[in-house]
Amino acid sequence: MLRIAVYGKGGIGKSTTVSNLAAVLALRGYTVMQIGCDPKADSTYVLMHGERIPSVLDLMRKTANPTLEDAVHRGFAGVLCVEAGGPTPGTGCAGRGVITAFEQLAALHAYEELAPDIVLYDVLGDVVCGGFSLPLRGERSDVVYVVTSGEMMSMYAASNIAQALERFKARDYARFGGLVLNRRDVADERALVESLADELGTGIVADVPRSADVHACEQETLTVVEGAPASAAARAYGALADAVLDEAGLPRAKAGIAGGPSEKAAVPTSNAKAAAAAAFAGGPKA
Ligand code: ADP
Ligand code: SF4
Ligand code: MG
Repeated sequence: MLRIAVYGKGGIGKSTTVSNLAAVLALRGYTVMQIGCDPKADSTYVLMHGERIPSVLDLMRKTANPTLEDAVHRGFAGVLCVEAGGPTPGTGCAGRGVITAFEQLAALHAYEELAPDIVLYDVLGDVVCGGFSLPLRGERSDVVYVVTSGEMMSMYAASNIAQALERFKARDYARFGGLVLNRRDVADERALVESLADELGTGIVADVPRSADVHACEQETLTVVEGAPASAAARAYGALADAVLDEAGLPRAKAGIAGGPSEKAAVPTSNAKAAAAAAFAGGPKA
């Protein structure tokens, strides 16, 4: 099982990036689980076609014994969607909430029961406090990617996360996979992020254009991979999947899958929707 944590400043495009990456990896035949670790609990929104799934913490507040069926929902291409959730607004510690949700998933044997090949953590990265830094640790993740644009505040957050990884390297923290450039179209954006990557001793693993397709698909509650598979943005998410799989030494498509994402995703939207409906028809569980 490959475990990947994706960090970045709030609003930079983590959930969009992670959801599209999850969609590509699933279309390539991998069993993928996406775990949203943002108290907003909106990580899996487009994968779930706009359906808000109950978060693990909400379930724990409502029932003494939440089940895997309650917590894990099958989204587009069969991606297993989970939201950790957060405390009641205005109370409690969101970082602690992430830890509690992880403990609950472990208690439900989520990884053993559902046997994902790849787990993606979508983590709010403004604060790298106790709770939100948990996915950085080696027992939780194998590799960490950071989403950034060329804007100063997002590069600052990226740098903080990279420094936390560097500081705790000796303590078996996850390895740093690199930066995902999610463009905001600031001047000299590529050069700015390249120089940050150099400073951090890493590279840019994917370059996602600022794209109206991303917004349009979000309005339709679709990933770009599903809603605009021929777009430049969808190609960039395909390239990100290549980089992630190459880094981990995994094949670009799981054995037995004939085509890569370009082949499988290049179906018209209506067919993609039908495929998604079929995936949902399988019910919430594998
Ligand atoms: P985060 O999870 O980091 O808070 P989101 O993934 O929710 O951020 O993205 C924030 C907003 O930016 C969303 O409305 C999303 O559609 C938009 N967005 C993200 N990436 C792009 C992109 N490459 N092009 C255009 N809009 C984007
Ligand atoms: Fe909790 Fe982190 Fe906030 Fe501290 S910084 S109160 S650990 S969420
Ligand atoms: Mg998000």
